[in-house]
Amino acid sequence: MDLKNLAVFLKENSLPAFRLAQIKTAVYKNFASGFEQITVLPETLRSRLKYDFRFSSLAADKRQVSKKGDAVKFSFLLKDGLKIETVLLNLMAEKWSLCVSTQAGCPVRCPFCATGRKGLKRNLSPEEITDQFLAAAAYLKNEHAQKIHSVVFMGMGEPFLNYDAVAEAIKTIIDPDFIGLGQRHVSVSTAGHVPGIRRFARDFPQINLALSLQSADNGLRDALVPLNRKYPLSQLSKALKDYLFATKRRVFLEYVLLENVNDSRSSAKKLLDWLKSVEALKYFNVNLIPYNETGRSFRKPTKEKVRAFHDYLLELGIPVTLRKSLGEDIDGACGQLAGK
Ligand code: SAH
Ligand code: SF4
Repeated sequence: MDLKNLAVFLKENSLPAFRLAQIKTAVYKNFASGFEQITVLPETLRSRLKYDFRFSSLAADKRQVSKKGDAVKFSFLLKDGLKIETVLLNLMAEKWSLCVSTQAGCPVRCPFCATGRKGLKRNLSPEEITDQFLAAAAYLKNEHAQKIHSVVFMGMGEPFLNYDAVAEAIKTIIDPDFIGLGQRHVSVSTAGHVPGIRRFARDFPQINLALSLQSADNGLRDALVPLNRKYPLSQLSKALKDYLFATKRRVFLEYVLLENVNDSRSSAKKLLDWLKSVEALKYFNVNLIPYNETGRSFRKPTKEKVRAFHDYLLELGIPVTLRKSLGEDIDGACGQLAGK
């Protein structure tokens, strides 16, 4: 919701300023999904706002629920007709995690990712990012009487290529005067934008950082994550070292497993050497994500191969977890958000 504009609207219509505070609470604390739900307002004002003021920067376009009911994908239409997607995931009992988008499309163009396929359309505004949270929170409240437990900036787009808007959205999400989610419940995932990592360490030392590594071989990473050509592993390593020194936090490393590309024992060994060159292994958590189908030439390794890679990392002493894949049947899993 655009509160600045709302303040102007109220003033222009000679309405008292306390209405703004009432609406702010109803939207950011109680997750009302429309002006008609804000019953503290007189009915005439509710209907007036409904016709004259845009409640959200996003129009609901489509909503898909996975067969198991553990993933919900929202498609939203932006004012200029572009589409973005947001996914709610039920990772643990009653604990819902929300994956938000930061750009329509993505300029990084990793070849295994559906979002990067058509390149960048445009950056999202802070309002377009927080409104994803508000819309999903309203849905969860109405359908399940539950709340969003954590939020990950891991949907469409590279967050650090839209840093200012992402920073403003994070502030709204953690600000107790607005949504007030705990900082430890927020994570940002980057493909390895070095200046962004450095700024993030200064601005948000309490918020989780995830890095989509995919490979510890610089040549292979150039191909898998084209941003690596600008910020190679040697620079990334320095930025992470400084990040760890400044924040004393653990870093999450995403590793999409692609059959016969980065799933060999020698890939695992390279990962070990690179991590050790940055910091002690206890500062990392490698999150293995078996590749989700995006209609490209890559393949997901067999379950046995995934397990073998996982066990080998453990054997090498690398803290590792295997990501459970949710929402593949609704194209809502990692890397499948295309905004079709
Ligand atoms: N641009 C940021 C955040 C969004 S991408 C980044 O790259 O980190 C979110 C995650 O989806 C990344 O960790 C990426 O590695 C993963 N991903 C992309 N395509 C995938 C695919 N086809 N299968 C599984 N994971 C994928
Ligand atoms: Fe962009 Fe991340 Fe997809 Fe790469 S994986 S194209 S950086 S959204």
